[in-house]
Amino acid sequence: RAKEIGRDAVQVFTFELAARAHEKLERQEELRRALAQTEFFLQYQPQMDLVTGRIFAVEALIRWRHPERGIVSPGEFIPLAEETGLIGPIGDWTLRTACRQNKAWQLSGLPPIVVSVNVSARQFQERDWVERVAAALEESGLEARYLELELTESLIMEDVQQAVETMHRLEQLGVHLAIDDFGTGYSSLSSLKRFPVGRLKIDRSFVKDLPGDSDDAAIATAVISLGHLLQLRVIAEGVETREQLDFLRAAGCDEIQGYYISRPIDAMALQALLCLPHC
Ligand code: C2E
Ligand code: MG
Ligand code: MG
Ligand code: MG
Repeated sequence: RAKEIGRDAVQVFTFELAARAHEKLERQEELRRALAQTEFFLQYQPQMDLVTGRIFAVEALIRWRHPERGIVSPGEFIPLAEETGLIGPIGDWTLRTACRQNKAWQLSGLPPIVVSVNVSARQFQERDWVERVAAALEESGLEARYLELELTESLIMEDVQQAVETMHRLEQLGVHLAIDDFGTGYSSLSSLKRFPVGRLKIDRSFVKDLPGDSDDAAIATAVISLGHLLQLRVIAEGVETREQLDFLRAAGCDEIQGYYISRPIDAMALQALLCLPHC
């Protein structure tokens, strides 16, 4: 009896595994098709300088217009893309599209802004990554100083030596570097000092309960001081309320990004937004 139950359990188990493997294959196929048929698109979220009030940069965020499921957010497909290696070509597409779009905004007469692009570990670790960045700039005609790459602490910490080397090569190209989701990883102070980055992005999880949560208030304040000690600019992500903004401004935070300023929006809408005070 026990044997039978055991056998049944094994059968159920293998069946489920097979079903899951099958579903994953299907998803992977879908991702491939999405890339081939450009079902991906970018939205752009403004970043505001707290001193001047100016929108000086935008973060490019990928979305997938799925023929049946509607708009799919990156949290739902980037992990699979990373797992299957599709993040290479998808990441290239993002980088090139963001560079081209930023150049197009400039050509349309808007005051120049920086476009910030998220980079996955697997992308960053590819041998020719720096050349691909250079190619995206070259092809679009965008000057390197109008591109920023967002790296996470965990990406860097996977192989610090290698990462620092790559970061220096990117720095030589002239692109800016930022550390995304700062505070959620575990980079030590001594390693942070070695990274040629210009900005820290305080993770949304520390902003969410500001100003009420005293732990988060302490963390946010500490990250801002740390960033300034290292002569970095500090931006807070996920700012949704006036109270959060006021707290961050008082704590000396340089810049903010979040729904309070604007949700991520399409290129056209961003152009209209940037145009407002000028055109
Ligand atoms: P992230 O780089 O930390 O991006 C910020 C996320 O916070 C975005 O989610 C943005 O829409 C969301 N957000 C911004 N302001 C607020 C706010 O005030 N409140 C709340 N609740 N959320 C806010 P999204 O677009 O879903 O992206 C999620 C993550 O997916 C990103 O986190 C990034 O890690 C990744 N991602 C997005 N685009 C790309 C891409 O092109 N390549 C790669 N490798 N990863 C990407
Ligand atoms: Mg980011
Ligand atoms: Mg982030
Ligand atoms: Mg994040």
